This record gives sequence, structure tokens and C-alpha cells, in this order.
Amino acid sequence: MVPGMTTNGGFEPVFCTVVPPHVLDKLARNDDPALSGPARRTLMRDSELRGRRRVTTEFALAAAPTAKAPSEQALRTIYDARHGTALPGTKVREEGADPGQDATVNRAYSGLGATFELFLKAYARHSIDGDGLPLDATVHYDENYNNAFWNGEQMVFGDGDGEIFLDFTIPIDVIGHELTHGVTQYTANLTYYGQPGALNESMSDVFGALIKQYTLGQTAAEADWLIGAGLLAPGVSGKALRSMKEPGSAYDDDVLGKDPQPGTMDDYVRTGRDNGGVHINSGIPNHAFYLAATALGGHAWEKAGQVWYDVLTGGELSDRAMFTDFAKLTVKAAKDRFGDGGEELQAVSKAWEQVGVRIS
Ligand SMILES: [Zn+2]
Repeated sequence: MVPGMTTNGGFEPVFCTVVPPHVLDKLARNDDPALSGPARRTLMRDSELRGRRRVTTEFALAAAPTAKAPSEQALRTIYDARHGTALPGTKVREEGADPGQDATVNRAYSGLGATFELFLKAYARHSIDGDGLPLDATVHYDENYNNAFWNGEQMVFGDGDGEIFLDFTIPIDVIGHELTHGVTQYTANLTYYGQPGALNESMSDVFGALIKQYTLGQTAAEADWLIGAGLLAPGVSGKALRSMKEPGSAYDDDVLGKDPQPGTMDDYVRTGRDNGGVHINSGIPNHAFYLAATALGGHAWEKAGQVWYDVLTGGELSDRAMFTDFAKLTVKAAKDRFGDGGEELQAVSKAWEQVGVRIS
């Protein structure tokens, strides 16, 4: 069975981590136990959690429909796992409470708020399910845990091992990335394998980047287009986990290896690992988004982001969509939203041509 799919075609949220398994695999093989130990531990924990996901599903279908209009206010709760693995842990900050002493708690709270804000203000979406879903996050998960994930119900952040990765609440786009997996789960529910899986990953990078740009008030030209800037420890040769501007250039390090992302179909990677390269080939649609957004200029969430959002949530995108299916729908959405013969249509079409994805 393809991972992330259910036999009955039902609703199964996937377990989405921000650090892909190929990075942790490489770390786990390192001679230095200070590096391999935390990576091995993280991999073991991740595979355990992946297995557990299969039995704790369908929360969305079970949720009672709300009669009243969803709130314009986020409903955030932050929990502290205190380096254990029991979820959600001890409640440490609720919506509206003042910031406390723990910077990690405060960053998680702000990141959840920034994500809620972008989806509400730019796309009139109330929380990740469109219906005011409360946003929960747990920080200080496990010891030296080198990852962050969305488990279908909440966000979880590790502190990193301090050698390779720092605290996973540092990059706001990582928080946005994980929560966008929730949005995808509630909308197109792209299958987490192969090209639909790479599209799922790319949606998270696109909206993660937009959440950061929206928070900083940046234009497409001002943005760094990096995912996870600030996450790599000072000794690592690299600037982030991924680059949408220049896929494949985010890091090149003795311990971590080299960023394997392609930016065009010419370099498409065929692999069975990483769920068929979901964190690898996502570089291609990521780069297309970057090209469309920078060609259009201004705030990327207003035009390119709107087109991508329209496709993700419009109901026409299949959960098995390939890059070309998605690309064609963005061309149609650009036309529907901004008119035939507009610069939006032109920029979106050209972007897909540049990365080698067929739109006709
Ligand atoms: Zn992801």
C-alpha cells in the first residue's frame, strides 16, 4: 500500500516531519556518537510515531459541526513535554495569556498566531480546517529530538541536539510548514507519496514561506526564499533546510551531506526513499512558485499565493495529482481569478515552462 493512503480511500492524516529521513539517515551513520546518537533516536521515534498514526485518525470526521461562524481570533494552547514523549504534556500558555520566561513557548505561540493570521487575512480562512480549529502545540519534546511534526492533530517541536540542529521553534516558516500540512489534509489531501506527496510538501514550503514574508512585511524581491533559516547550528555549512530560489543550494556539509533538491524536471530524482522523494522533488514546484512570485513582484501572498491557494482549496485538485495536473490548475486559477491575458496568467505559465512541467 502506498504510505498515507487508506484501503477504503478514507481520510488519513499523514505524519509530516520537517527534517526528511535522508538527512537523519546520513547523520545516524556518522562516526561521532554525539551526532549519530540523537539522529538514531529521532529516527526511531519518528518510525514509532508513523506507525501510531495509522490508528489515531479521522479526528476531523468525528468532530461535531459548529453552527456559529468561526472566530476571527486564534485559539492557541502551548504545552510542555518537559523532554518526555507523552502528548500533549503540561499546559503552559493559553490564548490571550502574557508571554512567559520560556522563549521556546513564546515562539511557538507567535508562530501559531502568524499562521492563523496569514490564512485569515489573505485568504479569509478560519484556522487550518476553515472552521476555527483550536491550534495546539507541544514544545521540548523528547531529548535531543531533531525534528518537528504535525501529527494530524497538533504541532510538536523538538529542541534539536545543539550540534546540527537548534530549537525547531526558531524558524517561523517551519511552524507554518507543519500547520499547512493540516490545511492540505483538510482540503486536497494530497497523497503523501511520489509527485502528489512532493506537491503536499511544496504546499507546506510555499505557505510556510508566505507566513514568514507576511509577518516580516516583505515583498517577493526582499524575501530570502529559504525554509528553515536559523535552524542549523553555527558549525554546519549551510543556510537552511531548503531553498525555493535555488533548490539544491541550502547546505553542503561534511556531516549533513549536500542538499539533494532539483529545481527543474531535468534533474527529477527517482527514488523509493523519503516516500518517493517527497522532500526532494518538491524543489521543482517550489521553484515554480518562486519564479511566478518574483516575476509578479509585490507581496507574494496576494497574487501567486492566491492562485496556489485557490487550487489547493478549490475542490478540483485530485489527491493523486501529478505536477502537470497541478500546474494546469494554477494556469486556470490565474485566468479565473485575474483574467485572461493578465500578467498573472503569463507569469504562472512561464514559471512552469522554466521548470520543465508541461501545462498543455
Ligand atoms: Zn512537510
